[in-house]
Amino acid sequence: MKKSVLIIDDNDQMRAEVRRHLTESNLFDEYYEATDGVEGFKILLNKDVDLILCDVVMPGIDGFKFLSMKKARPEFNDIPVIMLTGEEDVRLKIKGLEQGASDYITKPFDSGELVARVRVHYKIKALQEELRATNRRLEELSNTDGLTKLYNRRYFMELLDLEFQRAQRYESRLAFVMMDIDHFKEFNDSYGHLLGDRILAEISQILTENLRVNDIIGRYGGEEFGLMMPETDLKGALVVAERYRKRIEEFTMVEGDKQLKITISLGVACYPHPQIHTMDDLIRLADNALYEAKKYGRNRVEVTG
Ligand code: GH3
Ligand code: MG
Ligand code: MG
Repeated sequence: MKKSVLIIDDNDQMRAEVRRHLTESNLFDEYYEATDGVEGFKILLNKDVDLILCDVVMPGIDGFKFLSMKKARPEFNDIPVIMLTGEEDVRLKIKGLEQGASDYITKPFDSGELVARVRVHYKIKALQEELRATNRRLEELSNTDGLTKLYNRRYFMELLDLEFQRAQRYESRLAFVMMDIDHFKEFNDSYGHLLGDRILAEISQILTENLRVNDIIGRYGGEEFGLMMPETDLKGALVVAERYRKRIEEFTMVEGDKQLKITISLGVACYPHPQIHTMDDLIRLADNALYEAKKYGRNRVEVTG
């Protein structure tokens, strides 16, 4: 990743001097320059900027106005601004810090101090980004199941709860499908648990690949998967369920010289329905339909009418 800095100052000499010190210290790969706040803001909008050095007093849009424009855009929150203040005016410095500047440097500045302060604020920004990425990763981990990479039951239920509430509030439709691998215990017993795990991962992959944009799938139990489909009626849900059934039926798991066939049974329920008043009702009806699918021979889709 290229590191870039934006220097905003109406004084050409000042910009050149700042740039020279930074170049000597090898801190950045890319340098952008602007002579006032507007020009600086345009660069900020169009380029990836890691750090900003900004003069306070400039004709037109000055440093404070630049700070308030930047503040209005949350996506720029993490980009540090170091103000270049012309005089030893404490009030200006305080105002700058209050308006969101990270630090200030008083002109004429010492090059060592400039580089040191820039280095510190660049480091803070990099650490913040790292923290954000780690948090995202942690959230992902806590919401997904390690084996199948699908949403785990807890998170899936949270999402289903939200979708159900939404369907109730806006009187929209919500279809729910419960899927269960047929005779999975026999696979485990004949080929071992490890191959069973691989089958689960492969099936999850197939289910994910065929997912429509607004539909959500999760690992509901050991070899059970839930599929919620907002804004989908029974007819639509049946088409999707049947497609999944067929995809899995067509799939062959190759393990050494063995070729294994897997099938799933599916139960479909759809809100609104006279018997569905809560999310649990929706799940129960889909579960009942799944039970019927098993009863009538497996590898089929059943629906609660
Ligand atoms: P049915 O067609 O009626 O669904 O039969 P089944 O054998 O699939 O159903 P049952 O509920 O009796 O067995 C489910 C099996 O799924 C039992 C369990 O060993 C297996 N299973 C559940 N979770 C996992 C897992 O994470 N890995 C593996 N390998 N097997 C699992
Ligand atoms: Mg089961
Ligand atoms: Mg099963």
